[in-house]
Amino acid sequence: MNQNWNFEGPRLRISDQLSAKAFRSRTDAPPRDSFAGDAVAEEEGSRTLVLSANPLHAWPHDEEGEGPMIPDDARHELSKMLGERLALGKSDLALHGRSETWHPEMPPDAVAYPETTEEVADIVRICARHRVPVIGWGTGTALEGHGSAPRGGVTVDFRRMDAVLEVTADDMLVRVQPGCTRSRLAEELRATGLMFPVDPGADASLGGMASTRASGTTAVRYGTMRDHVRALEVVLADGRVIRTGSRARKSSAGYDLTSLFVGAEGTLGLITELTLKLHGQPEAVASAVCGFETTEGAITAVIEAMQLGLTPARIEYVDVATVRILNAADGADLPEMPHLLLEFHGTDDAVAAEAARMGEVAAENGGGDYRWAIRAEERTALWSMRHRAYHTILASRPGATAIVTDVCVPVSRLGEAIARAEAEIADSVLDGPILGHVGDGNYHAILMVDRGSQTEIDEAKRLSDAMVAHALEFGGTATGEHGVGLGKLHLMEAEHGEAWDVMGALKRALDPEGLMNPGKVVRPE
Ligand SMILES: Cc1cc2nc3c(=O)[nH]c(=O)nc-3n(C[C@H](O)[C@H](O)[C@H](O)COP(=O)(O)OP(=O)(O)OC[C@H]3O[C@@H](n4cnc5c(N)ncnc54)[C@H](O)[C@@H]3O)c2cc1C
Repeated sequence: MNQNWNFEGPRLRISDQLSAKAFRSRTDAPPRDSFAGDAVAEEEGSRTLVLSANPLHAWPHDEEGEGPMIPDDARHELSKMLGERLALGKSDLALHGRSETWHPEMPPDAVAYPETTEEVADIVRICARHRVPVIGWGTGTALEGHGSAPRGGVTVDFRRMDAVLEVTADDMLVRVQPGCTRSRLAEELRATGLMFPVDPGADASLGGMASTRASGTTAVRYGTMRDHVRALEVVLADGRVIRTGSRARKSSAGYDLTSLFVGAEGTLGLITELTLKLHGQPEAVASAVCGFETTEGAITAVIEAMQLGLTPARIEYVDVATVRILNAADGADLPEMPHLLLEFHGTDDAVAAEAARMGEVAAENGGGDYRWAIRAEERTALWSMRHRAYHTILASRPGATAIVTDVCVPVSRLGEAIARAEAEIADSVLDGPILGHVGDGNYHAILMVDRGSQTEIDEAKRLSDAMVAHALEFGGTATGEHGVGLGKLHLMEAEHGEAWDVMGALKRALDPEGLMNPGKVVRPE
């Protein structure tokens, strides 16, 4: 067992390294019969899973280039209140209509930059009076067009509400404003001995992370945003300000409204303050890397490790295609095989014991060259490479954007789900390296497409919908952590059945005019 590795491999030009497939031109790829429709239907017992085309793609955003669609009165009231903190410039609007991925730009009509909860409430009240949509905005890293404005309206950008308000070390709690980013909070906590572990890779805002119920690499040990939001302050669609939850560790006092707003994607209200659970910083941290002969072996090793009671803080899977790209473009020197990347947190003895035991489990399942390290530089190199992976993969096809799948299945079905996805991608004209948080049963295929090629976008949607159909068949979900936004809306009926109508009823109860981030999460009216 090797206790060190070197990420300082030669930095070769990507064009020297990638496979022919990665560079094949696809814009002129011949259309396939299956491109014609988005629908995928599968029988699961008596239940039919029908994944239809996203109805919202047909939504008009009023006449383009006709100027703001919000009434003059509303604009004047907002301008009077916010002054220069109401942006109407084209570039600001465009920036707030963009998504990280393939979704078409749908800008709002104005962007507001509030500084207090009272200002947020006033913005919402003005918009409610004039029936103008209101969309929350953290850092805009959500992947499914979550923050876009298909019906125009006012985007409320929380970047000026980014304070860490209070750390209560004895209760292991922190109170933050929604625009505070994950890295900003980590910086503030560094000297306290405490940490906030939810890590979606992107430097997202905590309001955005709560709103998408985000997770990421550490969820296998620490849980997701669902497990970390203790209390919220929320501005409702009519401008009322409510507080949900409490600082207590547990409560049986009525409906769990905190959980309702976590993952609501801003469709039920705007979060203006969060109380979050913290953890102690581990005394020691070890990271490990291991290549496997097969994906199945890697996944079996994950399952056995959990059954043995090992508690890794991260278990990430990267497939061979991802490894090739990381080797070529990011100076990694990994053997061309599927890999697990792991991290262990605990005392010096505990992490050494867990890392060593994991090495044995890996070896029993076709894992070779298991390397682990405790030096901070090596660990940082490993995880920053993992966090850069999405952008490194995209850069392997210059100019490409991506449709990113996010299915999550019971871990027992994960090997099968990934094998099916890999086979479908191999048969496709598209490239789609796969990586994932396999300890949670969650994986992503980064389906790279040319933004200008409808043929490629349709093919990626077909692949993505097929993966979701498999996931639902296996008892999983269409989205483990990215959320619904616009891109996963057409999957909600298949996943939830009548429960989706109940979500619609909750939405109507809290936002009868349908003004809070319209077009997302629930069935469009
Ligand atoms: C490279 C990359 C890797 C990623 N990896 C992961 C990952 O591993 N795990 C993961 O979970 N996600 C991942 N994501 C997705 C993204 O980072 C998360 O969805 C994140 O939680 C979004 O936070 P944000 O601040 O950018 O929110 P935004 O994108 O600004 O907003 C997201 C949604 O929340 C709403 N919203 C924002 N702030 C508020 C508020 N204060 N009140 C009410 N609604 C609000 C918005 O209207 C929108 O619907 C990744 C993204 C990228 C680009």
